[in-house]
Amino acid sequence: MSDQKQNFIGGAWVSGEPAENVNPSNTADIVGLYARANVAQANDAIAAAKAAFPSWSRSGLMERHAILRRASDEILARKDELGRLLSREEGKTLVEGIGETVRAAQIFDFYAGEALRLSGESVPSVRPDVGVEVTREAVGVVGIITPWNFPIAIPAWKLAPAICYGNTVVFKPADLVPGCAWALVDILQRAGLPGGVLNLVMGQGSVVGQTIAQSRDVDALTFTGSQGTGAALALESAKLMRKSQMEMGGKNPFVVLADADLDVAVDCVTQGAFYSTGQRCTASSRIIVQESIHDRFLEVLTERVTALKVGDALDASTHIGPVVDESQLAQNEDYIQIGQAEGARLVVGGERISGATQGFYQRPALFAECSNDMRIAREEIFGPVAAVISVKDYDEALAVANDTDFGLSAGIATSSLKHATHFKRNSEAGMVMVNLPTAGVDFHVPFGGRKASSFGAREQGRYAAEFYTTVKTAYTMA
Ligand code: ADP
Repeated sequence: MSDQKQNFIGGAWVSGEPAENVNPSNTADIVGLYARANVAQANDAIAAAKAAFPSWSRSGLMERHAILRRASDEILARKDELGRLLSREEGKTLVEGIGETVRAAQIFDFYAGEALRLSGESVPSVRPDVGVEVTREAVGVVGIITPWNFPIAIPAWKLAPAICYGNTVVFKPADLVPGCAWALVDILQRAGLPGGVLNLVMGQGSVVGQTIAQSRDVDALTFTGSQGTGAALALESAKLMRKSQMEMGGKNPFVVLADADLDVAVDCVTQGAFYSTGQRCTASSRIIVQESIHDRFLEVLTERVTALKVGDALDASTHIGPVVDESQLAQNEDYIQIGQAEGARLVVGGERISGATQGFYQRPALFAECSNDMRIAREEIFGPVAAVISVKDYDEALAVANDTDFGLSAGIATSSLKHATHFKRNSEAGMVMVNLPTAGVDFHVPFGGRKASSFGAREQGRYAAEFYTTVKTAYTMA
């Protein structure tokens, strides 16, 4: 296939089984043909990364800085085009697609700076005349496996620190969204990365992902995706006794207290639960509302949700793009039925709708009269579905917020400093938002959660060094 986008292995583009990248807003629109790698190619990629490691891990800091800097500049200069590609292959709106692309550029910019800020410690020994140095070194070959919901930002926040700290990479993006991944690798190789430092193997999790996950030559594995796959890959990594980092699901609570600014609360919930079609691990899916404000809040929220326009991601008037594919949409529909069967009241939405084009469109769904033990309040749906739970007071709200297997993000709308402070201290989540949506985070500070949401070191910001480096303690007798 001459027009297929190929895999990148050991510094060369390599063809494979072509797979169609389909636009979820319009299934007649094929974004492109992308080569699926096979097991042998995945192993070639791992071998290439291993061979490139000795030299890249000793590369000059200015070289790393300049490559990351050039990548950032090019992503920013092409933000409209790349944002459009993102929206076309994943289905989030163009504003969101361009925003995510800018964020990817900012992440490369941040790690371009970090490359020049590597540091260690020099400390006195407890023994006279002995000096101790504590330094950080690259880990080796990093396997990077990413999901479909942030096709450029998640690859960016794994690739940039991996490269910055001197590791080499085997990168497998989600099968549904190879377009942004391919563009990123193309940009990085033209920015000057030596052959073998970054290898792209597109394709299926059960083939390419498995090969990476089971390889003894992969020294560290970073994964973002579903809870089941993440748990399996963590076990795989434990067997090999290698470093691993898993970012998985969420069932994020957003608490609305009676003293909240109603507009702020409704904004946070509309944004947090439904934007990006609810396909974010930080989406608010449990809306916990104090009973004295419950009916008024639900009335205003229902008006807002009803007014949301669902449609083609590239249409400027669209608020909510399509669901990513047929199987995700069918799963969302199942949960609509499950919620009703469990006794929750479907206030609005949930139905599949047709658009001007053949796409996977679903109206945002709002359930009320939910209890926290219903499946729609416990299982991650990963779609535009939110469950409203009424509680008596702040103490019950906090207890319900924390009563979950997950612990990624948690939010509260309140004007009370006392409750905001107490919630920040007592929420069992990795990220806590006060008067802000549960989704939407900065790129320069740690990202990650607790319980079944995350395993291993935090991602992003300076904390990324924890995963992408290993510590050495050296003693010298004077
Ligand atoms: P999602 O619902 O986001 O697709 P998955 O956990 O299925 O969540 O997929 C996340 C990433 O993990 C994708 O790149 C996928 O191809 C990959 N993947 C899925 N199954 C496996 C597996 N068994 N081994 C390695 N990677 C996998």
